[in-house]
Amino acid sequence: MTVAVLYVVSTPIGNLDDMSPRAVKTLQNVDLIAAEDTRHSARLMQHFAITTPMLALHDHNERHKAQMLVQKLADGNAIALISDAGTPLISDPGYHLVCAVREAGFQVVPVVGPCALIAGLSVSGLATDRFSFYGFLPAKSSGRKQQLALLRDVGHTQVLYESPHRIVATVADIVSVMGAERQLVLARELTKTFETVYGGTALDVQAWLLADHNQQKGEFVVLIAGAEPQELDEIGAEEERMLTLLLAELPIKKAAAIAASLSGHKKKALYDRALQLQGKA
Ligand code: SAM
Repeated sequence: MTVAVLYVVSTPIGNLDDMSPRAVKTLQNVDLIAAEDTRHSARLMQHFAITTPMLALHDHNERHKAQMLVQKLADGNAIALISDAGTPLISDPGYHLVCAVREAGFQVVPVVGPCALIAGLSVSGLATDRFSFYGFLPAKSSGRKQQLALLRDVGHTQVLYESPHRIVATVADIVSVMGAERQLVLARELTKTFETVYGGTALDVQAWLLADHNQQKGEFVVLIAGAEPQELDEIGAEEERMLTLLLAELPIKKAAAIAASLSGHKKKALYDRALQLQGKA
C-alpha cells in the first residue's frame, strides 16, 4: 500500500472465523502493523498468513510511539492498528495514536468488526435504543460502588466490561447498589466454546454465578437495565407548580400531557397528581 493511511482494524474476540476478509487484506497490504502485544497477535498473523512487520503499541509507550508512527505516515507508509481482541480504542490502546494522526492531517479509516460490548448488547434482550458504556469500573469495591451509585437512576441500559477476578464482587456490588430486582445480563465468553448469556434479576444472576464456579471464568460483558420510569417518577415541587399553573387554564388531561412532555415524567403519574391537586382522588 502506498497511501499514507492509518487503518483501525477490528480482530476477533474469540472465534477466528469472525476475522473479515477486508481485515485480512488490510493487514497483509499495509507496511506496518501497530499491535497491542506483538507476541499475542503473532498467532493471528500466522493463522491468516500475514507477514507484515509488527511494532508494539501499548498503554505505556503509546504517546511516544504515536509521534514515530506519524513520521512513518509522512514518509508515505500505510499503517494498521490492532489490539489483542476486538476493536482498538474500546478499553484498548489507540486513542493517542488516532488523535495524533488526525491532528497531523492524515486519514484514519475503520476496518470494522467484532466488539464485545456491541455483541453483548445485541443478544442481551435489554433496551438498545439508548445505552452507555463505562468500560471497566474501579478495581476496589468502594470506588466501584461510588460509580454504580452515580448510575443507579440512569434510565437507559448500561454496559460494563469485567474480568473473571472481579465478576463475583462486581455483581455483589450491583445487587447492593442497584437493588436485587434490577434486571442484569452477563454475556460471557462471546463467540467462544463456553459462550453463555444469562439474564434475570440481579439477585437471580448472583445466585446463578455463585452456584457454578465454571460460570465465573472467562471474559464478561455486564449489562444493567436502565432504572424503571417509576423509580424516576418522583414528582417534585417544581413539576407540581407547573401542573398547578397549567390546571388553572386547561382541562386535566391536556395539563398532564403538557407537563409530561416538559418534565419527562409519565403522563399517567402527572394525571394522578393533577387529580389529587384538584381534590378528585
Ligand atoms: N477492544 C475490545 C472490544 O472491542 O470488545 C475490548 C478489550 S478489553 C481490554 C477486554 C474486555 O472486553 C474483557 O475483560 C471483557 O470484559 C470484554 N470481552 C472481550 N472479549 C470478550 C468475549 N469474548 N466475551 C465477553 N466479553 C469479552
